[in-house]
Amino acid sequence: MKRILAGILLLTLLLSGCAQAEPHRAELFAMDTLMELTVWGEESALDSVKTELRRLDALFSVTDERSEIYALNRDGHAALSEDVAALLRDAVSLSEQTGGAFDPTVYPLVLAWGFTTDTQTVPADAVLENALSHVGTEHLHFSGDTLTLDAGTMLDLGAIAKGYAAEQCAKLLREQGVTAALLSLGGNVQAVGEKPDGSAWVIGIADPNEPSSAIARLEFYGEKALVTSGGYQRYFEQDGTRYHHILDPETGFPAESELASVTVIADSGTRADAYATALFVMGLEQAVDFWRTQGDFEAVFILSDGTLYATEDAASLLRGCEFGVISR
Ligand code: AMP
Ligand code: MG
Repeated sequence: MKRILAGILLLTLLLSGCAQAEPHRAELFAMDTLMELTVWGEESALDSVKTELRRLDALFSVTDERSEIYALNRDGHAALSEDVAALLRDAVSLSEQTGGAFDPTVYPLVLAWGFTTDTQTVPADAVLENALSHVGTEHLHFSGDTLTLDAGTMLDLGAIAKGYAAEQCAKLLREQGVTAALLSLGGNVQAVGEKPDGSAWVIGIADPNEPSSAIARLEFYGEKALVTSGGYQRYFEQDGTRYHHILDPETGFPAESELASVTVIADSGTRADAYATALFVMGLEQAVDFWRTQGDFEAVFILSDGTLYATEDAASLLRGCEFGVISR
Protein backbone atom coordinates (compact mmCIF):
# COMPACT_ATOMS: atom_id res chain seq x y z
CA MET A 1 0.00 0.00 0.00
CA LYS A 2 2.81 2.35 1.00
CA ARG A 3 4.46 1.63 -2.31
CA ILE A 4 1.28 2.43 -4.25
CA LEU A 5 0.84 5.68 -2.32
CA ALA A 6 4.46 6.63 -2.96
CA GLY A 7 3.91 5.81 -6.64
CA ILE A 8 0.80 8.02 -6.79
CA LEU A 9 2.66 10.83 -5.00
CA LEU A 10 5.57 10.60 -7.45
CA LEU A 11 3.17 10.59 -10.41
CA THR A 12 1.32 13.63 -9.01
CA LEU A 13 4.62 15.45 -8.50
CA LEU A 14 5.73 14.60 -12.03
CA LEU A 15 2.43 15.72 -13.50
CA SER A 16 2.37 18.97 -11.53
CA GLY A 17 6.02 19.47 -12.50
CA CYS A 18 5.00 19.10 -16.16
CA ALA A 19 2.08 21.48 -15.65
CA GLN A 20 4.42 24.11 -14.20
CA ALA A 21 6.81 23.72 -17.13
CA GLU A 22 4.04 24.53 -19.63
CA PRO A 23 4.59 28.08 -20.86
CA HIS A 24 1.97 30.80 -21.23
CA ARG A 25 1.58 31.98 -24.80
CA ALA A 26 0.00 35.02 -26.40
CA GLU A 27 -0.14 36.73 -29.77
CA LEU A 28 -0.64 40.41 -30.29
CA PHE A 29 -0.42 42.86 -33.14
CA ALA A 30 1.74 45.85 -32.29
CA MET A 31 4.46 47.92 -33.99
CA ASP A 32 2.95 46.95 -37.30
CA THR A 33 3.75 43.27 -36.85
CA LEU A 34 2.45 40.04 -35.35
CA MET A 35 4.17 39.29 -32.05
CA GLU A 36 4.34 35.84 -30.46
CA LEU A 37 5.16 35.71 -26.78
CA THR A 38 6.07 32.61 -24.77
CA VAL A 39 6.70 32.96 -21.05
CA TRP A 40 7.44 30.23 -18.52
CA GLY A 41 6.19 31.39 -15.10
CA GLU A 42 3.23 33.41 -13.83
CA GLU A 43 0.62 34.48 -16.36
CA SER A 44 0.79 38.01 -14.90
CA ALA A 45 4.35 38.25 -16.31
CA LEU A 46 3.00 37.62 -19.80
CA ASP A 47 0.32 40.29 -19.23
CA SER A 48 2.95 42.80 -18.16
CA VAL A 49 4.89 42.17 -21.41
CA LYS A 50 1.74 42.78 -23.47
CA THR A 51 1.05 46.02 -21.58
CA GLU A 52 4.66 47.16 -22.04
CA LEU A 53 4.63 46.43 -25.80
CA ARG A 54 1.40 48.39 -26.27
CA ARG A 55 2.79 51.26 -24.18
CA LEU A 56 6.00 51.47 -26.24
CA ASP A 57 4.07 51.15 -29.52
CA ALA A 58 1.91 54.10 -28.47
CA LEU A 59 5.08 56.17 -27.83
CA PHE A 60 7.13 55.24 -30.90
CA SER A 61 4.53 54.84 -33.66
CA VAL A 62 5.20 57.10 -36.62
CA THR A 63 1.60 56.92 -37.87
CA ASP A 64 -0.45 57.05 -34.64
CA GLU A 65 -1.48 60.69 -34.20
CA ARG A 66 -1.35 60.30 -30.42
CA SER A 67 2.28 59.12 -30.29
CA GLU A 68 5.25 61.12 -29.07
CA ILE A 69 7.14 60.56 -32.34
CA TYR A 70 4.12 61.73 -34.35
CA ALA A 71 3.98 64.92 -32.22
CA LEU A 72 7.72 65.50 -32.71
CA ASN A 73 7.40 65.12 -36.48
CA ARG A 74 4.35 67.41 -36.60
CA ASP A 75 5.56 70.16 -34.21
CA GLY A 76 9.32 69.95 -34.77
CA HIS A 77 9.99 69.91 -31.04
CA ALA A 78 8.86 68.19 -27.84
CA ALA A 79 9.84 67.42 -24.29
CA LEU A 80 10.95 63.78 -24.42
CA SER A 81 9.64 61.00 -22.21
CA GLU A 82 12.24 58.76 -20.58
CA ASP A 83 11.83 55.94 -23.15
CA VAL A 84 11.93 58.16 -26.22
CA ALA A 85 14.96 60.03 -24.82
CA ALA A 86 16.77 56.74 -24.09
CA LEU A 87 16.01 55.24 -27.48
CA LEU A 88 16.93 58.41 -29.39
CA ARG A 89 20.24 58.63 -27.53
CA ASP A 90 21.00 55.04 -28.58
CA ALA A 91 19.75 55.69 -32.11
CA VAL A 92 22.01 58.70 -32.62
CA SER A 93 25.08 56.90 -31.33
CA LEU A 94 24.31 53.77 -33.43
CA SER A 95 23.85 56.00 -36.46
CA GLU A 96 27.29 57.52 -35.90
CA GLN A 97 28.81 54.10 -35.27
CA THR A 98 27.39 52.69 -38.52
CA GLY A 99 28.52 55.69 -40.55
CA GLY A 100 24.90 56.71 -41.11
CA ALA A 101 23.85 53.39 -42.71
CA PHE A 102 21.28 53.20 -39.91
CA ASP A 103 19.68 56.63 -39.63
CA PRO A 104 16.65 57.44 -37.41
CA THR A 105 15.88 60.57 -39.48
CA VAL A 106 15.05 58.57 -42.61
CA TYR A 107 11.29 59.34 -42.41
CA PRO A 108 11.18 62.02 -45.17
CA LEU A 109 12.50 59.32 -47.53
CA VAL A 110 10.09 56.67 -46.21
CA LEU A 111 7.24 59.13 -46.88
CA ALA A 112 8.53 59.99 -50.35
CA TRP A 113 8.35 56.29 -51.29
CA GLY A 114 4.98 55.98 -49.54
CA PHE A 115 6.01 53.05 -47.34
CA THR A 116 3.75 54.12 -44.47
CA THR A 117 0.86 54.97 -46.79
CA ASP A 118 -1.46 52.96 -49.04
CA THR A 119 0.21 54.11 -52.24
CA GLN A 120 3.83 53.30 -52.84
CA THR A 121 5.59 54.82 -55.80
CA VAL A 122 9.04 55.68 -57.11
CA PRO A 123 9.46 59.36 -56.18
CA ALA A 124 10.48 62.03 -58.70
CA ASP A 125 14.16 63.10 -58.48
CA ALA A 126 13.25 66.51 -57.05
CA VAL A 127 11.11 64.91 -54.33
CA LEU A 128 13.95 62.56 -53.37
CA GLU A 129 16.51 65.35 -53.39
CA ASN A 130 14.35 67.48 -51.11
CA ALA A 131 13.73 64.52 -48.74
CA LEU A 132 17.47 63.71 -48.67
CA SER A 133 18.32 67.27 -47.62
CA HIS A 134 16.41 66.68 -44.34
CA VAL A 135 18.03 63.33 -43.50
CA GLY A 136 20.92 63.13 -41.03
CA THR A 137 21.32 63.23 -37.25
CA GLU A 138 22.96 66.69 -37.54
CA HIS A 139 19.36 67.96 -37.95
CA LEU A 140 18.54 66.90 -34.36
CA HIS A 141 19.19 69.36 -31.52
CA PHE A 142 18.97 68.07 -27.96
CA SER A 143 18.74 70.49 -25.06
CA GLY A 144 18.12 68.91 -21.69
CA ASP A 145 14.89 66.91 -22.07
CA THR A 146 13.83 68.75 -25.22
CA LEU A 147 14.50 67.82 -28.82
CA THR A 148 14.16 70.25 -31.70
CA LEU A 149 14.20 69.08 -35.32
CA ASP A 150 15.30 71.26 -38.23
CA ALA A 151 12.34 72.14 -40.48
CA GLY A 152 11.49 69.16 -42.71
CA THR A 153 13.39 66.60 -40.60
CA MET A 154 11.33 63.71 -39.25
CA LEU A 155 12.06 60.65 -37.14
CA ASP A 156 11.31 57.00 -37.88
CA LEU A 157 12.34 54.50 -35.19
CA GLY A 158 10.97 51.53 -37.15
CA ALA A 159 14.43 50.01 -37.61
CA ILE A 160 15.24 49.94 -33.89
CA ALA A 161 11.99 50.16 -31.85
CA LYS A 162 11.19 46.43 -31.84
CA GLY A 163 14.70 45.59 -30.66
CA TYR A 164 14.44 48.17 -27.88
CA ALA A 165 10.98 46.89 -26.92
CA ALA A 166 12.24 43.29 -26.78
CA GLU A 167 15.19 44.34 -24.62
CA GLN A 168 12.92 46.31 -22.24
CA CYS A 169 10.50 43.35 -21.96
CA ALA A 170 13.39 41.00 -21.18
CA LYS A 171 14.40 43.35 -18.34
CA LEU A 172 10.83 43.48 -17.07
CA LEU A 173 10.59 39.67 -17.06
CA ARG A 174 13.86 39.30 -15.19
CA GLU A 175 12.67 41.79 -12.57
CA GLN A 176 9.60 39.62 -12.10
CA GLY A 177 11.73 36.54 -11.55
CA VAL A 178 10.92 34.89 -14.89
CA THR A 179 13.74 32.53 -15.81
CA ALA A 180 12.68 31.65 -19.36
CA ALA A 181 10.84 33.41 -22.18
CA LEU A 182 10.94 33.72 -25.93
CA LEU A 183 9.67 36.96 -27.44
CA SER A 184 9.23 36.98 -31.19
CA LEU A 185 8.37 40.45 -32.45
CA GLY A 186 8.18 40.11 -36.23
CA GLY A 187 11.76 39.55 -37.42
CA ASN A 188 13.07 40.25 -33.89
CA VAL A 189 13.62 37.41 -31.45
CA GLN A 190 14.66 37.85 -27.82
CA ALA A 191 15.48 34.79 -25.73
CA VAL A 192 15.38 35.24 -21.96
CA GLY A 193 17.15 32.79 -19.65
CA GLU A 194 17.35 29.05 -20.34
CA LYS A 195 14.59 26.72 -21.45
CA PRO A 196 13.27 24.84 -18.41
CA ASP A 197 13.85 21.43 -20.05
CA GLY A 198 17.52 22.28 -20.60
CA SER A 199 17.30 22.13 -24.39
CA ALA A 200 18.66 24.81 -26.73
CA TRP A 201 16.67 27.70 -28.15
CA VAL A 202 16.07 26.90 -31.83
CA ILE A 203 15.28 29.86 -34.08
CA GLY A 204 14.63 29.57 -37.81
CA ILE A 205 16.06 32.03 -40.30
CA ALA A 206 13.51 32.82 -43.02
CA ASP A 207 14.27 31.88 -46.61
CA PRO A 208 14.24 35.28 -48.40
CA ASN A 209 12.74 33.58 -51.48
CA GLU A 210 10.04 31.84 -49.45
CA PRO A 211 9.74 33.72 -46.17
CA SER A 212 7.20 31.38 -44.60
CA SER A 213 9.82 28.59 -44.48
CA ALA A 214 13.22 28.47 -42.79
CA ILE A 215 16.42 28.19 -44.82
CA ALA A 216 18.49 27.41 -41.70
CA ARG A 217 18.27 27.52 -37.93
CA LEU A 218 20.33 28.89 -35.07
CA GLU A 219 20.67 26.81 -31.91
CA PHE A 220 21.98 28.39 -28.73
CA TYR A 221 21.68 28.51 -24.96
CA GLY A 222 21.02 31.56 -22.79
CA GLU A 223 20.10 35.18 -23.44
CA LYS A 224 20.44 36.52 -26.94
CA ALA A 225 18.72 38.86 -29.36
CA LEU A 226 18.41 37.76 -33.00
CA VAL A 227 17.22 40.25 -35.58
CA THR A 228 16.74 39.80 -39.32
CA SER A 229 16.49 42.62 -41.87
CA GLY A 230 15.68 41.75 -45.45
CA GLY A 231 14.32 43.35 -48.58
CA TYR A 232 11.71 40.57 -48.80
CA GLN A 233 9.94 41.78 -45.62
CA ARG A 234 8.19 44.77 -47.26
CA TYR A 235 8.28 45.89 -50.88
CA PHE A 236 6.25 46.96 -53.89
CA GLU A 237 6.70 46.45 -57.60
CA GLN A 238 6.59 49.09 -60.29
CA ASP A 239 7.27 48.50 -64.00
CA GLY A 240 8.63 45.05 -63.22
CA THR A 241 11.16 46.27 -60.63
CA ARG A 242 10.95 45.48 -56.95
CA TYR A 243 11.52 48.32 -54.46
CA HIS A 244 11.96 47.36 -50.80
CA HIS A 245 11.64 49.32 -47.56
CA ILE A 246 15.25 49.49 -46.35
CA LEU A 247 16.58 52.75 -47.72
CA ASP A 248 20.14 53.86 -48.24
CA PRO A 249 20.30 57.28 -46.52
CA GLU A 250 23.11 58.26 -48.97
CA THR A 251 21.13 57.74 -52.17
CA GLY A 252 17.53 57.79 -50.95
CA PHE A 253 16.90 54.54 -52.87
CA PRO A 254 16.28 51.06 -51.49
CA ALA A 255 19.70 49.71 -50.47
CA GLU A 256 21.09 47.67 -53.32
CA SER A 257 23.66 44.93 -52.88
CA GLU A 258 24.12 41.18 -53.20
CA LEU A 259 22.40 40.74 -49.80
CA ALA A 260 18.89 39.31 -49.49
CA SER A 261 18.93 39.36 -45.68
CA VAL A 262 21.13 39.88 -42.65
CA THR A 263 20.58 38.25 -39.28
CA VAL A 264 22.42 39.78 -36.33
CA ILE A 265 22.99 38.01 -33.01
CA ALA A 266 23.89 40.24 -30.06
CA ASP A 267 23.38 40.70 -26.33
CA SER A 268 21.34 43.86 -26.85
CA GLY A 269 18.10 43.81 -28.87
CA THR A 270 18.42 47.53 -29.62
CA ARG A 271 21.89 47.11 -31.06
CA ALA A 272 21.00 43.94 -32.97
CA ASP A 273 18.05 45.72 -34.61
CA ALA A 274 19.99 48.82 -35.65
CA TYR A 275 22.95 46.72 -36.86
CA ALA A 276 20.75 44.37 -38.95
CA THR A 277 19.32 47.35 -40.83
CA ALA A 278 22.74 49.02 -41.14
CA LEU A 279 24.55 45.88 -42.38
CA PHE A 280 21.85 45.33 -44.99
CA VAL A 281 22.44 48.90 -46.23
CA MET A 282 26.25 48.45 -46.19
CA GLY A 283 26.33 45.30 -48.33
CA LEU A 284 28.44 42.22 -47.59
CA GLU A 285 31.97 43.57 -47.94
CA GLN A 286 31.48 46.68 -45.81
CA ALA A 287 29.36 44.72 -43.31
CA VAL A 288 32.21 42.21 -42.82
CA ASP A 289 34.70 45.06 -42.28
CA PHE A 290 32.30 46.54 -39.71
CA TRP A 291 32.04 43.17 -37.91
CA ARG A 292 35.84 42.86 -37.84
CA THR A 293 36.28 46.28 -36.22
CA GLN A 294 33.24 46.14 -33.93
CA GLY A 295 33.37 42.77 -32.21
CA ASP A 296 30.07 43.11 -30.29
CA PHE A 297 27.82 40.97 -32.53
CA GLU A 298 27.74 37.99 -34.89
CA ALA A 299 25.90 37.76 -38.20
CA VAL A 300 24.49 35.44 -40.85
CA PHE A 301 24.33 36.83 -44.38
CA ILE A 302 22.07 35.40 -47.09
CA LEU A 303 22.91 36.45 -50.62
CA SER A 304 20.32 36.86 -53.38
CA ASP A 305 21.64 33.69 -55.06
CA GLY A 306 20.82 31.71 -51.89
CA THR A 307 24.43 31.40 -50.61
CA LEU A 308 24.89 31.73 -46.84
CA TYR A 309 27.84 33.17 -44.92
CA ALA A 310 28.25 33.23 -41.15
CA THR A 311 30.76 35.03 -38.95
CA GLU A 312 32.92 32.65 -36.88
CA ASP A 313 30.81 32.43 -33.73
CA ALA A 314 27.49 32.49 -35.61
CA ALA A 315 28.80 29.57 -37.69
CA SER A 316 29.05 27.41 -34.56
CA LEU A 317 25.31 27.96 -33.89
CA LEU A 318 24.09 27.47 -37.47
CA ARG A 319 22.38 24.20 -38.46
CA GLY A 320 20.49 22.70 -41.40
CA CYS A 321 22.32 24.35 -44.32
CA GLU A 322 25.65 24.76 -46.06
CA PHE A 323 27.50 28.00 -45.49
CA GLY A 324 30.80 29.79 -45.77
CA VAL A 325 32.59 30.94 -42.62
CA ILE A 326 33.86 34.51 -42.29
CA SER A 327 36.90 34.67 -40.02
CA ARG A 328 38.26 37.62 -38.05
P1 AMP B 1 14.24 46.94 -40.17
O1 AMP B 1 13.15 46.01 -40.56
O2 AMP B 1 14.60 46.89 -38.72
O3 AMP B 1 15.45 46.81 -41.05
O4 AMP B 1 13.68 48.42 -40.36
C1 AMP B 1 13.18 48.89 -41.57
C2 AMP B 1 12.31 50.09 -41.33
O5 AMP B 1 13.09 51.15 -40.79
C3 AMP B 1 11.70 50.64 -42.62
O6 AMP B 1 10.40 50.16 -42.81
C4 AMP B 1 11.73 52.15 -42.41
O7 AMP B 1 10.61 52.56 -41.66
C5 AMP B 1 12.96 52.35 -41.56
N1 AMP B 1 14.21 52.48 -42.32
C6 AMP B 1 14.42 52.24 -43.65
N2 AMP B 1 15.71 52.43 -43.98
C7 AMP B 1 16.34 52.81 -42.84
C8 AMP B 1 17.69 53.16 -42.52
N3 AMP B 1 18.66 53.14 -43.43
N4 AMP B 1 17.96 53.51 -41.24
C9 AMP B 1 16.99 53.54 -40.30
N5 AMP B 1 15.71 53.22 -40.54
C10 AMP B 1 15.39 52.85 -41.78
MG1 MG C 1 16.41 47.00 -37.68
